[in-house]
Amino acid sequence: MPPSATMIITNARILTMDPDNPRAEAVALCHDRILALGTSADIAAQAGPGCTMIDAGGASLLPGFIESHLHLFMGGSELSHLQLLGVEGPDQLGHAIRDYARAHPQRRVIVGQGCDYAIYGRALTRHDLDAILPDRPIILVAADHHTGWANTLALTEAGILQGATVGPGNEVVMGADGLATGELREFEAMAPVLRVAGEHRIMAGIATGFDPLPAPTQDDMMADLPAMLAGLAHCARHGFTSLVNMDGNRYTLQVLDTLRQQGQLTARVRVPFHYRNTRIPADLAEASAMTRDYNDDWLSSGFVKMFMDGVIDSGTAVMLNDYPDQPGWRGDPLHEADRFAEICIEADRRGLQIAVHAIGDGAVRRVLDGYAAARATNGPRDARHRIEHIELIDRTDVPRLAELGVVASVQPSHVPGAMDFPPFPSLDKIGRPRWKDAFLTRTLAEAGAPIVFASDWPVADINPLRSIQAALTRQPFEGAQDERLTLHQVLAAYTIGGAYAEHTEDRKGMLRPGYLADLVLLDGDIEAVAPDRIASLSVSRTICGGRTVWDAAI
Ligand SMILES: [Zn+2]
Repeated sequence: MPPSATMIITNARILTMDPDNPRAEAVALCHDRILALGTSADIAAQAGPGCTMIDAGGASLLPGFIESHLHLFMGGSELSHLQLLGVEGPDQLGHAIRDYARAHPQRRVIVGQGCDYAIYGRALTRHDLDAILPDRPIILVAADHHTGWANTLALTEAGILQGATVGPGNEVVMGADGLATGELREFEAMAPVLRVAGEHRIMAGIATGFDPLPAPTQDDMMADLPAMLAGLAHCARHGFTSLVNMDGNRYTLQVLDTLRQQGQLTARVRVPFHYRNTRIPADLAEASAMTRDYNDDWLSSGFVKMFMDGVIDSGTAVMLNDYPDQPGWRGDPLHEADRFAEICIEADRRGLQIAVHAIGDGAVRRVLDGYAAARATNGPRDARHRIEHIELIDRTDVPRLAELGVVASVQPSHVPGAMDFPPFPSLDKIGRPRWKDAFLTRTLAEAGAPIVFASDWPVADINPLRSIQAALTRQPFEGAQDERLTLHQVLAAYTIGGAYAEHTEDRKGMLRPGYLADLVLLDGDIEAVAPDRIASLSVSRTICGGRTVWDAAI
């Protein structure tokens, strides 16, 4: 007897993303797999006893979205932080901080998120924050997470008021008075304050990539579960069924595994081994061990994450040419070229995928050189190494992505002026003559690079519908070509493209019989809505592994 359906969705506008069978009206699921697609009448006939029947009311139904670059643990914990996106000037900042402080008397440290680099029209100092709240530790973190600003009490309690020795690319900025100004560049500089805040275990995956020290107790783990759960719930309500975390360590997987055992894992998560420049290539043995220990469709590893540079706004992105406003300065790469090639060769030899944050054109080139070295030494294989962000690229490097089979992981929400990030100062830091080479998407796709879209949450809003709208409506920078993709290409970058980048396109990213039952149902027809109205749609149901993990009606 053929298996009978456990859940059936009829009357939907199904975009299967399967080129062999692009459209359907109804889908039947049997437990955690897709059973059949077809017309509403044919599929409804397959209902088994106790089958859940859902009428989609003509709304779009798609493969569950794949968020190809996010920071789940950190994002989950930040949902309860002070939110500063859109806050401008001393008055607004003062109110925001004081209100939050009053409402959260138990918070050890007041942590703000989404602080604008230009919030005071100049660099923020500890004195500015002391003037608002001198008697409780404060750290405000930029939306890009690459810079933080702390008050004197926070710096004192963290033991870095007199400065600190941190790795290359990181900096506790010092003032003329011999004391820290309050500006903390990159994670190693911010880490001591976040430790005082009690967030060091959650942040370890991004800050160092090492497991937390001292080793977390059972109580520590229990204290950290709510942050992860909050992150998972946030993803589920936005339609994501697969998440590619872009920082991590074994502890991150252990926390997720604990949730899985409690039946609370609502998405499939990949967690990398985060290799910072304080490590040595022999440490990659742990990446292989994580890959061996977590290797199913719910929790897996299999890749190495690195950073090659910082970000444009703080001048830490690595450029091939001088920053227009800083003659002689091109940013400092976080890995020497030879050393980086050595890491790539070793990771690739181990069969691991590599994903590297590279924003400036100098960083992008160095990463491509490393991937080329790995291929030259180990021979070609279907590695699908990735570059994260690619905000600026030299034209001669564009064809190298396709040549090396490198996936371009780009974020529609990061394009200056397209969604929440303002055009300036980013575009000034890039310089008008290079705008035509900035934030390319269509150019990369036309050159044959596989494209995946992501938000980099919590760096930007995770909402894929807002990102889809941004990708479809972004305007070209002056002198640059139109970098928009079609709706189908954009949806592919959130579904089948994401699966390809994970080597899971044989079971994810499309709706096809036998594939994993991961689906997202919207509350309208995405093809019928004008591109500039797509963000008004929302997710009405998210199904992961055949189970409803988000239902807007509940
Ligand atoms: Zn990221």
